[in-house]
Amino acid sequence: MNTDIILETKNLKKYFKVKKKMLHAVDDVNLTIRRGTTLGVVGESGCGKSTLGRTLIRLIKATSGEITFGGVDITSLREKDFGPYRRRMQFIFQDPYASLDPRMTVRDIVAEPLKTHKLCHTREEMTERVLSLLRDVGIPEEFLFRYPHQFSGGQRQRIGIARAIALDPALIVCDEPVSALDVSVQNQILNLLRQLQHERGLSYLFISHDLSVVRFISDRICVMFLGRLCEIGRTAEVYSAPLHPYTRFLINATRFEEKPLLTGELPSPTDPPPGCRFHTRCPYATECCRREVPQLRPVAGRLVACHRAEELHR
Ligand code: SF4
Repeated sequence: MNTDIILETKNLKKYFKVKKKMLHAVDDVNLTIRRGTTLGVVGESGCGKSTLGRTLIRLIKATSGEITFGGVDITSLREKDFGPYRRRMQFIFQDPYASLDPRMTVRDIVAEPLKTHKLCHTREEMTERVLSLLRDVGIPEEFLFRYPHQFSGGQRQRIGIARAIALDPALIVCDEPVSALDVSVQNQILNLLRQLQHERGLSYLFISHDLSVVRFISDRICVMFLGRLCEIGRTAEVYSAPLHPYTRFLINATRFEEKPLLTGELPSPTDPPPGCRFHTRCPYATECCRREVPQLRPVAGRLVACHRAEELHR
């Protein structure tokens, strides 16, 4: 067992039935998240990023494959056996307003998970814990009895983070946690997440459609297209020399004023094309790409799922 790794998936799949067809939201995903680090997930809307995040921590049930957390296969643990692991994995939502109960005070919102897991014995102890968590995320203690609507978007996200760290998790899935915020507030929240990671040894799976955000916070990134991973590697290397044609497209789109356009037929997740899922839009596609599914394999210090990765590297 590699103790550096907090979470690992093998051939993870999540399919949904949509009007008698199967939607391949997550298809054969193999990834690892190292302790105390951030794995960023990028890809366009609908590529399966959020479903991947939810499946990883069993908010939704995997169709097949394996999820190992801290060396334990948690894929098919019964709910009561999964309990101790559930509290070690938390989720930060895109829209904190929607995830915070408007009828509850901040004290009660942050106290809720502590109460559920019976971690405090008295009301005073609970209030002390909540105040300490609020201090950790930069919410003044005089706001303890305010309601969610009395806070700004950034403050609400801080409260969501306080709630997520209340149970001392090892892994947090952050699903577009700053995309609803202004740029200056985004930076504050990203810096807070980094600080908490440093202080608490947290690992993050950080999902975003915004490559600059992912670049700032991630040690490694993986790129998803139509439910599959295209490329996974160290952030600086992937950004400076992307290998998969789809990664190249995404990164070029952030570099040039005039955005490049993807041409070709947009494939459907309920009827994905055979071979490489990107072949209908890829300028480098060959006959082999239309036939054979490219598997992730090591190329130039990262993993790439492209038949022509070596050629493109030269
Ligand atoms: Fe393009 Fe072929 Fe590589 Fe897919 S496998 S990204 S179609 S070159």
